[in-house]
Amino acid sequence: MSCVFCRIARGEAPAHVVWQDDLFLAFLDVQPINPGHLLLIPREHVDYLFDLDDALYGPLFARAKELAEPLRRATGCGRVGVAVEGYGVPHAHIHLVPINGRLELDPNRAAFREESEQAEMAARIREALASTS
Ligand SMILES: [Zn+2]
Repeated sequence: MSCVFCRIARGEAPAHVVWQDDLFLAFLDVQPINPGHLLLIPREHVDYLFDLDDALYGPLFARAKELAEPLRRATGCGRVGVAVEGYGVPHAHIHLVPINGRLELDPNRAAFREESEQAEMAARIREALASTS
């Protein structure tokens, strides 16, 4: 199985993971639309979001909600936008994107960031998550 998100979930591919539990994990998108752009995935490999078992589907969105406020605080954005397309990597994922206005949630704005910038952002998000729980 060469799915990159499965490899990240198993710790076999590098990613800035900011949060994880037994079922899900969240990590920085390698090409963020805005700094702090997270991907939230189930550990289980399911291609299409709406094929997820209900036992995972509901909790996945509950985790998105739990991550949103710490992400907003860490980035200082106005709101956290949510997007699902599913054509990039065939493993269900929710984009959580810090945004400050309309039309920012645009995949054409995605761009690679410096590794040091990504690492610093991941640390800020982890810190915000730690101060919530
Ligand atoms: Zn996968």
